[in-house]
Amino acid sequence: MSLKHVLMIATGGTLACRETGRGLAPSLTGEQLIEFLPELPKICKVVVENPFSIDSTDITTADRVKLAGIIRENYDLYDGFVIAHGTDTLGYTSALLYHMLRNLNKPVILTGAQKPIGVPGSDAERNLLDAFRVIRAGYVGVAAVLHGQIIRGNHVVKVDCESMNAFRSINAPLAGTIDREGNVRLDIVPKLGGEPEFVEDIDSDFVLLKLVPDLDPSIITFLTRYKKVIIEGYGSGGIPIRLEKVVQKLIHSGTKVYVTTQCLSGSVNLDKYEVGKRAEAMGAVSLGHRTIEDAIAAIQCGEI
Ligand code: ASP
Repeated sequence: MSLKHVLMIATGGTLACRETGRGLAPSLTGEQLIEFLPELPKICKVVVENPFSIDSTDITTADRVKLAGIIRENYDLYDGFVIAHGTDTLGYTSALLYHMLRNLNKPVILTGAQKPIGVPGSDAERNLLDAFRVIRAGYVGVAAVLHGQIIRGNHVVKVDCESMNAFRSINAPLAGTIDREGNVRLDIVPKLGGEPEFVEDIDSDFVLLKLVPDLDPSIITFLTRYKKVIIEGYGSGGIPIRLEKVVQKLIHSGTKVYVTTQCLSGSVNLDKYEVGKRAEAMGAVSLGHRTIEDAIAAIQCGEI
């Protein structure tokens, strides 16, 4: 079988970092990263692009739209795409790409690491190789590959800032696993459906507000300038009664209000409690089982 032809898009992140004296900062190019992977030529044929090299703390929607653009422009030229990305915002990028790149019949695999490549005990070599192995195994669609897990793009959440096992597939089973020897097991491969579509209009006119007990209601009065406001509520969801008036005014001003939860898994259910039913009656919209990353991406792509 001939080797798959893969475009690797290197964007920085810890895996490309070196100590600079001012702290870890991305320093290695994609070409330098793959020098650490002598097995790679046996897995895939790889071409590298380096559109930017940043700590993913600094990533913007414009950067992520650029990544989608690179995939779009090169879609017919490659069998798949690997994006080497900082782990901190990897879930946001995977969710946005999941919603921007629809009906894919090729894989787009994001990966990163908690330790720089080449450093003893780093997870970078394993994660990068696994990303290519998942392409070789025939996955399609957007997914993250980290610590032996394959997580569908809209369910990726970073839950730990130290452990190598830092990501979870929230509200969905893993799409598959890769063992320590590099054997890939695919449990779910998204179904191919129709022609690939690339969403172009990305709206960033939204804000996310996290509820805490005693949140100052006047903060909400400043939010009328946004088209969409996501309230990160508690548990099954609901608006505290003492905030109802300001939220009602916000909705009447034309801002669409969504409710999500601070719980890591499970679903918003506005029908369960009085505070939820009252929120729904005001016109607040439940984000259901979506992760925050997925909800933001769906909102940015105009799906909800
Ligand atoms: N701050 C880094 C980044 O997100 C963390 C990492 O890559 O693990 O770029």
